[in-house]
Amino acid sequence: MIVTNAKVYTQNDAMPTAEAFAIEDGKFACVGSNEEVRQWAADRAKAAEATGDAKAAEAAVPELDLGGKFVMPGIIDSHTHIAMSAFMGGDDDDDEFPMYDCKSKAEILDKLKAMVKKHPFRLFYAMFYGQIEALADDPLTRDDLDKIVRFRPVVLMENECHSAFLNSAALRYFKIREDTPDIAPGLSRYDRDEKGRLTGFITEMTLVPILAAQKPSKKELRFGITKLLSYLISRGVTTIFDAGNMTDEDMIFRTFKEMDEEGKIPVRMFMCHMLWHPDMVPSAIEELKRCKAKYETDNIRFETMKMMYDGTQRIHTACMVEPYADTGTSGGTLISESELLEFMRALNHEGIDFHLHTVGEAAMRKVMNCVERLQAEGATADGAADEAAGGEPFRITVTCAHDEVICLEDIDRFKELGIVANFTPSWNGGNCGSEPENMQRLLGLERGLCTLQSRTIFDTGAVVSFSSDEVELHNLEHWSPFWGMEVGMTRQDPDFGEPLEDGTLDGRTAPIYPSVDERLTLSQLIKGYTINGAKQLGIDDRLGSIEVGKDADFLVLGENLFEVDPYRLHEVIPERVYVKGRVQSIV
Ligand SMILES: [Zn+2]
Repeated sequence: MIVTNAKVYTQNDAMPTAEAFAIEDGKFACVGSNEEVRQWAADRAKAAEATGDAKAAEAAVPELDLGGKFVMPGIIDSHTHIAMSAFMGGDDDDDEFPMYDCKSKAEILDKLKAMVKKHPFRLFYAMFYGQIEALADDPLTRDDLDKIVRFRPVVLMENECHSAFLNSAALRYFKIREDTPDIAPGLSRYDRDEKGRLTGFITEMTLVPILAAQKPSKKELRFGITKLLSYLISRGVTTIFDAGNMTDEDMIFRTFKEMDEEGKIPVRMFMCHMLWHPDMVPSAIEELKRCKAKYETDNIRFETMKMMYDGTQRIHTACMVEPYADTGTSGGTLISESELLEFMRALNHEGIDFHLHTVGEAAMRKVMNCVERLQAEGATADGAADEAAGGEPFRITVTCAHDEVICLEDIDRFKELGIVANFTPSWNGGNCGSEPENMQRLLGLERGLCTLQSRTIFDTGAVVSFSSDEVELHNLEHWSPFWGMEVGMTRQDPDFGEPLEDGTLDGRTAPIYPSVDERLTLSQLIKGYTINGAKQLGIDDRLGSIEVGKDADFLVLGENLFEVDPYRLHEVIPERVYVKGRVQSIV
């Protein structure tokens, strides 16, 4: 097929725009002007004639005239959680684990009372209560919950799944005792009062057994995966990095493999083995290899190790160089810098890429120090490995995801060390409870004004990739890369604006999340959602741009993205989505 009369934004620096391209065997075979591509088709027919293949010579190459429409490469969502979202809630109407957005402790307790009244015989009560900020001035404790439910477990989960409140029966149910050690101090911990008594507040990866207890049926899991993939394809996503699962990796990977064998995975899925407990580190490489051997298919690949290296600043678990302004604590990391160095050295030896959750400034610095050290070990001035130092050439891609608070001294190190910075632009409008006042309370006035600096890092020349990093099945539009592009460009969240008269969302009236200088350009956003995502995944030799030899993944849009009002970008839906030269319909 040849595609002509299009405005093609190739993301190939050597030829940023084109009019036309040809597709053969699922790959771009020619990219250029209308004449060049038509000439390619004519030459191809001639060549077929010369070889005596009369049938091929006669078959005219079909031409798709796009009449000036906008074309860009298929989108790469380089960090999101399809399986985890499907795992936690395959059903929209989830009365078992409802989601609220309570604004105070009293409201949370009222919701719990109402739930108990509605379901008096339930053996286990669980709900998402809202954001932790609802409790900033008036913390909840197990005693508050015990007054409502004494003998049966109650779990109140923060909507972002980084912490929870448990009553005494839930602590007992999950075998959390006064002497249970924290998983990682400062990070995944069981909160205790001055006397060492558990308060019922637990953070980060201590939640894993609770999430595992919500195990879905296979049917629910498949329902959730199908729902999310259908939506993502409809919004132009053709390649996904699934950034990890905390439990039941085998069940999840098996389900993906089965679905792929049934032809129900029409995108490329890059999976990882996720480490959330220090005890998982020694066997991690073997485990990733086991999953790869067992579950890999053409569409489902296992090339990456993922580590939850720190937490979030909102519950003081992200690891900081300068302590939190309100508590004076500094958070923590899953393993120490020296343990990380050893692990990264082993990954490099195996050629396994490394993707880390790093929110705080100290977490990123530790990763950077390790990369710097291994690069130094691996290369002398003439580029050969310094074997005297025991080094191997450093060849893996290391990605730091989230990167919310970064020290000024470290900003240039992404570029210098070749570390990929992965960001989720939909957070740049200050959702996730990271309102400026809240950030200033946690981080101090100045540092609180300088978070989510994706523009600054992009402008250093580093590889910056963009993703949706979603973990839920509600509000599907937050998964859309075009929603991410709008918030990335404006630093205003459509959800926080005054809706227009017709009820549609309008980010224009939403507060601008500081700093306004961090607004990204549309060109940067497209790059981060395409070629830079391919670089992160090590597939830029075959994906990420419209370039001869690469897979023919591309989107046709009814309007030129560069001419769309930035405040309407979130409504953009591609007219057609092609994977390897074929139109993808909804699975
Ligand atoms: Zn994530």
